[in-house]
Amino acid sequence: MERLKDKVAVITGGTGGIGLATANLFLKHGAKVVLVDKNSEAIEKSRAELNHKNVSYFQADVSKKEDTIKFLDHSLETYGKIDIFFANAGIEGVSSPISEYPEDVFDSVIAVNLKGVWLGCQYIIPKMEDGGSVIITSSVAGLKGFAGLGAYVATKHAVVGIMRVAAVENASRKIRVNTIHPGPVDNEMMRRIESDMSPDSPEVVKDGFIAAVPFGRYATSKEIGECALFLASDESKFITGCTHLVDGGMLNA
Ligand code: NAD
Repeated sequence: MERLKDKVAVITGGTGGIGLATANLFLKHGAKVVLVDKNSEAIEKSRAELNHKNVSYFQADVSKKEDTIKFLDHSLETYGKIDIFFANAGIEGVSSPISEYPEDVFDSVIAVNLKGVWLGCQYIIPKMEDGGSVIITSSVAGLKGFAGLGAYVATKHAVVGIMRVAAVENASRKIRVNTIHPGPVDNEMMRRIESDMSPDSPEVVKDGFIAAVPFGRYATSKEIGECALFLASDESKFITGCTHLVDGGMLNA
């Protein structure tokens, strides 16, 4: 069954672990997909890997208003409409206590994870089809504090606020807005976090994270994509303003 037949989806951070896994699922379910990412090399790699006629790629920085307007225009010119907006681009920053956190890194994490989602909601939602779906990737770190990840945790909490406001503001158009909250996912972002926290023994950091997940493992990128697929499909058409954990029980442990 094609759960996204005739739908058009825009995915930011589209060539990263979660973005690409989600794109694969969306394509399998009949969507046309625009993948937006800052990383041109990753765009070329994804183009070769997906090799699908219903994907369009656009290089853009979600933290810039001009780029947001450009990928909006590109999506509308390419596929004529937007039904699904997956605001998924994100960066982790560095591992450091708040007292020592570098200001420039703080600013960059705020720019991508918070302003990027804000700009997306500001410019994309008004041009979306009524009845559409906005999905924002927060994190389990959007509902709980983690020492050393202050900037990241702050932004992932903040997007829950954006989600709650956007859900109310767009309810009359039956556009639903929800957040997904992954626990640690087995992809490049966690590899960077593990190495940053302990350059000499990243595997010890990984073991520590896994010990904090009652299901005893990291999520796969595809498992996060499956939650996005549900929220993108009409099966979730009465669900809005909600936080959706995909964390193997981590938050409640
Ligand atoms: P990833 O690093 O593989 O992907 C992130 C993507 O975002 C990359 O392709 C990167 O190029 C892109 N990106 C970064 N800055 C950008 C910008 N300014 N403009 C456009 N694109 C930009 O990691 P991922 O796990 O796929 O991350 C996707 C989302 O999931 C992020 O918001 C992340 O915070 C969130 N998340 C990840 C994990 C995890 O363990 N990996 C856990 C919880 C939440």
